[in-house]
Amino acid sequence: MKTVADLIDEGVAGRTVLLRADLNVPLDDAGNITDDGRIRASVPTIQELSGAGAQVIVTAHLGRPKLGPDPALSLAPVAARLGELLGAPVRLVHLGGEAPGLAAGDVVLLENIRFDPRETSKNADERAALADELVALTGENGAFVSDGFGVVHRKQASVYDVAQDLPAYAGQLVQAEVGVLSRLAGDPQRPYVVVLGGSKVSDKLGVITALLPRVDAVLVGGGMCFTFLKALGHGVGDSLLEADQIETCRRFLESGKIVLPTDVVVADRFAADAETAVVGADAIPDGRLGLDIGPESVARFAEALEGAATVFWNGPMGVFEMAPFASGTRGVAEAVTKAGTSVVGGGDSAAAVRALGLDESAYSHISTGGGASLEYLEGKSLPGLSVLEG
Ligand code: ADP
Ligand code: MG
Repeated sequence: MKTVADLIDEGVAGRTVLLRADLNVPLDDAGNITDDGRIRASVPTIQELSGAGAQVIVTAHLGRPKLGPDPALSLAPVAARLGELLGAPVRLVHLGGEAPGLAAGDVVLLENIRFDPRETSKNADERAALADELVALTGENGAFVSDGFGVVHRKQASVYDVAQDLPAYAGQLVQAEVGVLSRLAGDPQRPYVVVLGGSKVSDKLGVITALLPRVDAVLVGGGMCFTFLKALGHGVGDSLLEADQIETCRRFLESGKIVLPTDVVVADRFAADAETAVVGADAIPDGRLGLDIGPESVARFAEALEGAATVFWNGPMGVFEMAPFASGTRGVAEAVTKAGTSVVGGGDSAAAVRALGLDESAYSHISTGGGASLEYLEGKSLPGLSVLEG
């Protein structure tokens, strides 16, 4: 895999570089960025290229626009924030609009690439047509830098197809992510404990299947723990439940490595001002929904994490976005930092670390890619990475 350092060695001054970044940040209802972690993580490679005299055209997506351009999903606020971080304004440009007219060191951001349905098309010809337009922007002697780790598991025009048509290099973020995850996927120091949460078991089946034989314990919290509790025969009230996964959870439990919460914070409705109570995990009343793991579970999980040499954590333990259901995530997030190697993967988990005011530097690595990091650890081949090997 060639890297951005190789590109700079080859000479990049005066060349136009198309750079795929992951700038898919959460926005509040007013369109304000609530967590700029992914923008900050993209800055070093952009800065390196622009500092070396390249013209940089950044391409990225925001959300999942369904029907073409959607003003609510414009990258305009992201361009503004990126400009602040770079210390120079970043113009938002449109594909098919006027040629950007770039000078050495300039950085521009292309509007949300997913406004063009060809970006995510399953049809390779459609994707290739969009890739051709992107490649054309780089003129003669262009290059492609892949730095959007959060999208490398996607076979999409700006991730995969462009890398076939331009000399392609891995950016610093992609390199750092792959470095850390390849060590976890290789021969991590034991005990190796994995903490999983988040909303859906079905999202995490693959990673549980792949990791169970290789880890010492899997601690399960978040919305997904209720399907496991159901598999033990417990009632779960109105908590999240994936009935079609109960059997699979039962099989996972047979490994003897799954650690479940013993108490749960239940609420009478899904709201920050709901009436709450802590109940045993085997005593969730009908009509209540479990929105966080309880204090006893946090202590149990912390104990299981205490002796771990390596920890991978994906998925919040509760609905941390609402204060009454944030304690489980906070407690586990703090316990995770005690491990020799602590890796956080998952967009919401990373956002939780920052939203709860925890010290990011206490972790060995916070991945910017949820799906991508899980697929990497499952041992899948990620199209956006394999295309860089080619
Ligand atoms: P990540 O992005 O870190 O991979 P996920 O996307 O899988 O994490 O899950 C994050 C979401 O899971 C959060 O928005 C959180 O509110 C939700 N969640 C966690 N616990 C529960 C629960 N008990 N009930 C409903 N939703 C939950
Ligand atoms: Mg998520």
